Amino acid sequence: MSRNIVTFHYTLRDTQGAVIDASVGGEPISFLEGAGQIVEGLEEGLRGLATGTKAHIGVPAAKAYGERDEAQVQRVLKSLLPIEGEIKAGDQFRAGTDAYAPIVTVMGVEGDELLLDANHPLAGVDLEFEVELLASRPATADEIAHGHAHGEGGCCGGKEGGCGDGGCDDTGSGDDKAGGCDKPDCGCKT
Ligand SMILES: [Zn+2]
Repeated sequence: MSRNIVTFHYTLRDTQGAVIDASVGGEPISFLEGAGQIVEGLEEGLRGLATGTKAHIGVPAAKAYGERDEAQVQRVLKSLLPIEGEIKAGDQFRAGTDAYAPIVTVMGVEGDELLLDANHPLAGVDLEFEVELLASRPATADEIAHGHAHGEGGCCGGKEGGCGDGGCDDTGSGDDKAGGCDKPDCGCKT
């Protein structure tokens, strides 16, 4: 089955109309179909749209960041956490040192305990996307092998070291990640 590289702009709102996130005004998003790079319901809604089309795509939480799981809300002794200084409700931090560790939200502080929520911040949230499909083209064999779109300059913007079989960094010295790399300015994920 052929797979496309799809480029689009979006504005994401919750069902009350509050803007959560948007690409409009910045760089559009390019993704490889079937690589799980954008939420499932959005990818389904974009499939088959003609270039230049503007559309509204409503995505229920189950096809976005999933339903909330109350088992992910736990009481933890503050002293067990490697955080310093004041902690207050609403603070967010990573549950580990890895860049992909889940983000947990502090729901409350009760004495020397914290009530932590490890659900994705958008879990349980129905999403409303306004999209504009800018381009769609067949993916190259390299893009399918790497699992991501190659923009201008090729893989990772043509940086030395490329992305090889997993990811890249801007020195080519390693730090490979499945599906691309985590350097914000690398360009290999956009
Ligand atoms: Zn690549």
